[in-house]
Amino acid sequence: MLISVEIPESAEAARAGLQSGALPLGGGTHLMARLNDEAAGDLRLVSLRKAGLRGIHVEGATVVMGAATTLADLEDDARLGYLSRCVRSIASPPVRSLATVAGNLFVPQPYGDLAAALLALDAELDVLGAGGARREPLERIVTGGLPAGELVTGVRFTAPAPGTFRFHKASRRRLNSGSIVTVAARITVEDGLVGDVRLVLGGLGRRLIRATGAERVLLGAPLTAETVARAAEADVIEPVGDAYASAWYRARVYPVHLRRALLGA
Ligand SMILES: Cc1cc2nc3c(=O)[nH]c(=O)nc-3n(C[C@H](O)[C@H](O)[C@H](O)COP(=O)(O)OP(=O)(O)OC[C@H]3O[C@@H](n4cnc5c(N)ncnc54)[C@H](O)[C@@H]3O)c2cc1C
Repeated sequence: MLISVEIPESAEAARAGLQSGALPLGGGTHLMARLNDEAAGDLRLVSLRKAGLRGIHVEGATVVMGAATTLADLEDDARLGYLSRCVRSIASPPVRSLATVAGNLFVPQPYGDLAAALLALDAELDVLGAGGARREPLERIVTGGLPAGELVTGVRFTAPAPGTFRFHKASRRRLNSGSIVTVAARITVEDGLVGDVRLVLGGLGRRLIRATGAERVLLGAPLTAETVARAAEADVIEPVGDAYASAWYRARVYPVHLRRALLGA
């Protein structure tokens, strides 16, 4: 197997390089391991390291992250304090110094913790394709994938109001452990009742799950242990088993972690 790596110096050049099966390369923390295991024949990678896609811009409530921004960059940015619990739950500092925002959107479960948080925040992606630049809801890409030859150049979302974003992850170890259950939620409570909620589950399925049944139970209800217990029953979730936890264990502990995420207890 021969791997060649192009290092273009603009997003447009990077997209143009994604021809004939060439793959975008972020930090390589997932892709290189996968290629070592699976790749056959010659392969071209297009590194985004110098394509001008790294940086975090916050203007008012709008946050825009370049696709090649590293997880360590997010961790170090005080403006994104609501994401720090999520980012610090991912892998370990050496991996976070390489892994990129866009790369985390395309890793298989039980990884993709940042993707879970961004989906709960209803993020949109800036995508560059042969037809030019466009925006796509992250939700569409999570369910339908990104067409070959296209590139995510950025991720944008509205910062959550203080106290409205929750992230909770259960894992075997503090470092370098995939998720057993991840819960990411944007939730507002007005006069004791849930006014708005967007709930995303990681670790439980082959893809991130938008828990729309739980959202319906929570909406307009008092945020109590009883409501959260009903919400945990509201979606058909068929967990997968892997080296981190069995499917049985994941199903068993999901209600506990939903309660911890939403009620802190
Ligand atoms: C030891 C270890 C522990 C880990 N633990 C966790 C964890 O707890 N939680 C978690 O969420 N993750 C975890 N991960 C996964 C890690 O977070 C991901 O590997 C990382 O986020 C991927 O980012 P990357 O930039 O390295 O992506 P790469 O490996 O470079 O790429 C990943 C995929 O994304 C595609 N891609 C990259 N950039 C773009 C782009 N701009 N546009 C379109 N496609 C793109 C690539 O083609 C590839 O398919 C762990 C990884 C390791 C090695």
